[in-house]
Amino acid sequence: MKKIVFDLDYTLLDTIAFKEALIAATGVPKEAWEETYKDTVAKKGFFEPGAFFDELAGRNLLTDDVAAAKDRFEGVLRTTEQYLYPEAKELVLALGRHKGEVEVDLMTFGEAKWQRSKVEHSGLGRMFQDVLYVETNKKEFVQGLGKGRDEVDEVILVNDNGKEMEEMVEAAPEHTYIWKSGGPKAAPKDWKHLKAESIGDLAEVLEKQTGFELRREMREVREGIENMKVESGENVRVEIEMGDDDESGESKVESGKSEGSPIDPGTKGRRL
Ligand SMILES: [Mg+2]
Repeated sequence: MKKIVFDLDYTLLDTIAFKEALIAATGVPKEAWEETYKDTVAKKGFFEPGAFFDELAGRNLLTDDVAAAKDRFEGVLRTTEQYLYPEAKELVLALGRHKGEVEVDLMTFGEAKWQRSKVEHSGLGRMFQDVLYVETNKKEFVQGLGKGRDEVDEVILVNDNGKEMEEMVEAAPEHTYIWKSGGPKAAPKDWKHLKAESIGDLAEVLEKQTGFELRREMREVREGIENMKVESGENVRVEIEMGDDDESGESKVESGKSEGSPIDPGTKGRRL
């Protein structure tokens, strides 16, 4: 069995577009936002909305009260799914069809509560076997992936961040690494491992690693979503269950709003 571990920001999620929507929602000028963002991240090590809003308010950057700006910010957060890269959902769903042959996880760096909110609102939460929130450093964690599980013959990590990739390769050279290029993060130096520029590219690379016909399956998944939209005449949430209660391995399609959180942090996610 292969264990595929995706990163979220700039790998599956277009975090540039997402962040721009968040900036617009708060009504803070972009430059002032970026400066405040940089300062609060430097203080805490990662982004945390509470501290960030305190700082925006302290700098008198909010044009109305904090609660109203936070409401609009959270309104964008609830639409995270719209900011996934084209075909990201289809790729994860196509991989989800191969239950038993492949295990799909998410490993994301950042403040656990904030990252968890993004994952929950991305509509992807249920598609992952494990969602790993890393607040310290991915390299410390990567060595343990697949350890003690004889059925896992290959661990494949997909990530856009060059520095993280270099550190992970050094910490656990036994794994397979696919660098998702084209994002804002610096490229890894002298990259000799696999590389993909888009989700389409990534599907092609993963086809070679897994032997699955992922691009064809992604088209089928896409057609399935389109048909559901036509039938229901509304937005459709497509989610796949990877729990023990779903033995079919087929996509489970739910219409309308999702009920509650797609992730149970107690069983599916781990806070590190
Ligand atoms: Mg990333």
